[in-house]
Amino acid sequence: MPSLYVHVPFCIQKCDYCAFYSHGLTNYSKELIPLYLEGLEIELANRQKDAPQGVSSLFIGGGTPTALPLDNLEHLLKLITRNFSFAERAEKTTEGNPGTLTREKLILLREYGINRFSLGVQAFDDKLLSNVGRIHSAQQARDGVLLLRTLGFTNINLDLMFGLPGQTMSLWKTSVEEALSYRPEHLSLYGLMLEEGTPLYDRIGEGLDRAESTGAEEVRREEAGESYCDGDRDQGLPDDDLQADMQEWAVERLEKAGYIHYETSNFALPGFECQHNLGYWRGEEYLGLGPGGVSCLKRVRQKNVEDVRAYWASLHEEKEPLDEEGKEILSLEECMAERMILGLRLREGVSFTKFREDFGVDLRDIYGDVLERYRYRDCFVIQGDRLCLNEKYAFVANGILREFVGGAG
Ligand code: SF4
Repeated sequence: MPSLYVHVPFCIQKCDYCAFYSHGLTNYSKELIPLYLEGLEIELANRQKDAPQGVSSLFIGGGTPTALPLDNLEHLLKLITRNFSFAERAEKTTEGNPGTLTREKLILLREYGINRFSLGVQAFDDKLLSNVGRIHSAQQARDGVLLLRTLGFTNINLDLMFGLPGQTMSLWKTSVEEALSYRPEHLSLYGLMLEEGTPLYDRIGEGLDRAESTGAEEVRREEAGESYCDGDRDQGLPDDDLQADMQEWAVERLEKAGYIHYETSNFALPGFECQHNLGYWRGEEYLGLGPGGVSCLKRVRQKNVEDVRAYWASLHEEKEPLDEEGKEILSLEECMAERMILGLRLREGVSFTKFREDFGVDLRDIYGDVLERYRYRDCFVIQGDRLCLNEKYAFVANGILREFVGGAG
């Protein structure tokens, strides 16, 4: 049974760092909403056949699903529930930005069975939020969490970001502590990525010298209780060392608070790991619908075009709304590499048995060279039937995991 992701490519306004496919809602882009829903109606009906037994979980993401006006949001939910059935007690998540939550929209989501909400808080600090063009205030995030609780959401994720312009260690700690005070079931902690083509990259990405903007000055200010959010240094980016310290501190703090660090960037109270994303990291099949959605079924990966008009036009011409790369048949080697790269991000690691069942070979026969190369550094540990990444390398995992690409044989 695959999982189902539905992409909603609209936000109230683009954040300065965001490279996801979405449109800020101007008068022009508002006209795209009916086209998006019309296209989605056709695509959902066409793709039912890919999940004859239904889907294991639902994730409505974006973009900002809750940026849709109430009637459009209801239309979207109707289309999904009309076309797909769900496994019993399936996890159904919607993402939202604190600046877009209303009581009516959240009640509607509950009525349609949404049982998990992922709130993009990023920081409980107005200056940090405005430094990256977030549309909401810290107070709106607080109000959002309380509203979600009041309306009966018992499975909430809060997204927080570290490495934001102007963020010091003490500001990071303040945000994490405030998030913990709400006892969310799940927390996702992401480091800011400077993506080319975003306003933030244009502003500070080129010629960036993170160290220059922090370093000794950071320590002095930290000791003096000063904030980078003052004066002309309010756009200084924490350097790599400080970002690593932020991550390390948070891991320790969250684990102390009872959260399981079950994936590189994700933490959950026991039993509240995100089932939808777990399926993806474990190499299970997924359907991704809407413009920009990515699906992978039976080793065929396809991505939808990131353009609402082109998406709509293809579907009206009874064509699949694919991007220019079309369908890609993944080789066995690519599938195995992906299994390793995604699976080793999980604390549970990669199961030897499952790997053999899925690919017909022993993982050790395929990646023996890579495992041997890193053996002296203790990078990998075997726990029963599972190969795991040593936790102390979790923060530098990407470099190690890259070894699995082309590392087969
Ligand atoms: S709200 Fe989320 S998806 Fe929308 S622009 Fe900001 S980061 Fe990107």
